Amino acid sequence: MAPRPGIVDRLSSFRTRLGLFFLLIVVVPMIAVAFIVFRLIADSEKGQAGARIAARQEAAISLYYGARDDGDQLAARIGRDPRLAAALREGDRAGVVKAAERLRRSVGAERIVLRNGRDVLADVGDGKASFPATRDLVADGRRVAELQVSARDAIDYARLVRQATGLEVVVRRGDQVLAATLDGSGKATVPEHQGSVQVGGEDFRASSFALPDFLGRDVGVTLMEPQAQTASDIRDGRILASAILAGFFLLALLSAVLVSRTLQRQIGEFLAAARRLGGGGFSAKVPTRGNDEFAQLGHEFNKMSGELETRLEELRQERHRLELSLRRIGETFASNLDRDALLEIVVRTSVDAVNADGGRAAARRTEAGELEPVARVGRDDAPAVAADAERQVLEAGRPAFATEDGASALAHPLRAGPAAGEAAQLVTGMVSVWRHGRPFSDTERELFHYLAGQAAVSVENVGLHETVERQAVTDELTGLSNRRRFDETISAEVERSRRFGQDVGLVLLDIDDFKRVNDTYGHQQGDLVLKEVARILKDTAREIDEPARYGGEELAVVLPGTDLEGAYNLAERVREGIEDLRLPILGENGDSALRVTASFGVAALPVSAEDLRTLVSAADEALYEAKRTGKNKTVRAG
Ligand code: GH3
Ligand code: MG
Ligand code: MG
Repeated sequence: MAPRPGIVDRLSSFRTRLGLFFLLIVVVPMIAVAFIVFRLIADSEKGQAGARIAARQEAAISLYYGARDDGDQLAARIGRDPRLAAALREGDRAGVVKAAERLRRSVGAERIVLRNGRDVLADVGDGKASFPATRDLVADGRRVAELQVSARDAIDYARLVRQATGLEVVVRRGDQVLAATLDGSGKATVPEHQGSVQVGGEDFRASSFALPDFLGRDVGVTLMEPQAQTASDIRDGRILASAILAGFFLLALLSAVLVSRTLQRQIGEFLAAARRLGGGGFSAKVPTRGNDEFAQLGHEFNKMSGELETRLEELRQERHRLELSLRRIGETFASNLDRDALLEIVVRTSVDAVNADGGRAAARRTEAGELEPVARVGRDDAPAVAADAERQVLEAGRPAFATEDGASALAHPLRAGPAAGEAAQLVTGMVSVWRHGRPFSDTERELFHYLAGQAAVSVENVGLHETVERQAVTDELTGLSNRRRFDETISAEVERSRRFGQDVGLVLLDIDDFKRVNDTYGHQQGDLVLKEVARILKDTAREIDEPARYGGEELAVVLPGTDLEGAYNLAERVREGIEDLRLPILGENGDSALRVTASFGVAALPVSAEDLRTLVSAADEALYEAKRTGKNKTVRAG
């Protein structure tokens, strides 16, 4: 599981930064706008309420004018009454009152007031009636009274205003409430012009104005609108504004999410492609759409991965060429004939080719000999893993691979003879390489085994070459040196004796009555006799002596550093050995055995002769003497 990202990591994530950006350019301004809009809505609703109440006030004033006009018509009729005029002229107060009362009833006025200056002559009718019309009554060119007539009382007026405006109405005269359309509103303290008032637990916007009353006084009219109306208007406005703002917010959020998703997808595709590229996948391209910066980036990215692919392909080809040239080197090995130098080259080339830390080769000098180190590359001692691989090669006779403790090794066998490849065959040597760390790849293993295999072929060729060489100087039947080799050896030894004054002994032997063996038992029996006699000669002679088949059934041995007496002693030992031989007779079983004897002639330098030719003829004469004087004896040259 991946570790949880820290706060710093999360802040640095592309997505988080987009989120912060969105918050900054959308959410914060939107909150500010909402705040301002809400304030504006509240202010505007309050302003509208003010305007509305002002318009209703106009309607209430119009209704006042209507009431006053009605009063004025009644006042005109009253002013024309002759009896009232007479009572006024005569200063008859009681008559004036009487006439006023009569006229109020007859014209249907609510209240009639007559006064002369401060002097009230008559005041009849409903005290709560107001909104009067005023006229001057004139007699004989002189004003005799001021007439005020009301056609409406306050309650009627209030009801009419309520009907026309839909607002609550209070009419006052000083502290006296003349009319109120809402219970309890009379007791409330109303503002002089505009303000708010509370009636029965409800808030109202109130607006007051004054209208003329009887006797030069005023009545106050107050219009009241429930504030709940304004509040609900504000709420409605705010809900609408909120809905619009929320719509904008959703739109912004939607486009932000859309943009973020698109960006993230594109970046994700680049990231995935970069990872594929890192993993060696060059074929998968980044999808490019449109012609924006991302598409251009994608094009560049694809170009880069194509470039890398080409470079890699070039490298692959380079590697292939290298392998080919290494193979050529390997083929050269196969034609080389110096075994040790060859193994040295193969170890060096193998170590280079597979990037090994070290390598070595071991081989047997002879088929029965021990494995001896032949070549070695690398400073470190071979790790245990190398010995392990080599042991496997020895056991199974096949190429081996071992790995342990963070090191690995490869080993390849070298074999003798033309039947190489058979596991049972003797392993005559091996090549191994080792490395710490990264194990050898399949290609490296293949390359190493190819090189070592070529070296094995070459070493085989060396072996064959040695065999051919050996065969060229060896007699096939007896395994002794052949005549050619004998001639070379005796010439070299005689030359050495001449230079350094050394003794050289020569023994010649001829099997007695050999013809008869052939004739009696057959040629094969004769061959067996020859082989056995040769073996006794070989076993008796020293390492430096060189027994040879001189010709037919005649054998010879050159004895460097040996005088005539030494040669005689050797010849006698061989003669006795032959005498003791009991040879089985081929084709017969039973106890019967064949016995043979041989005659010997010995000579030596410098006592018997002075050069090669006289030495050989001296030995030959001695042999002839031995035959002539009875066979199965040794004769020294004279
Ligand atoms: P002597 O005692 O005088 O030496 O008598 P001999 O029979 O050995 O006579 P001689 O040396 O003349 O005979 C040589 C015979 O050896 C002749 C030949 O048939 C035989 N011979 C030579 N080479 C071989 C060989 O490689 N194998 C066999 N089986 N016989 C051989
Ligand atoms: Mg002979
Ligand atoms: Mg003979």
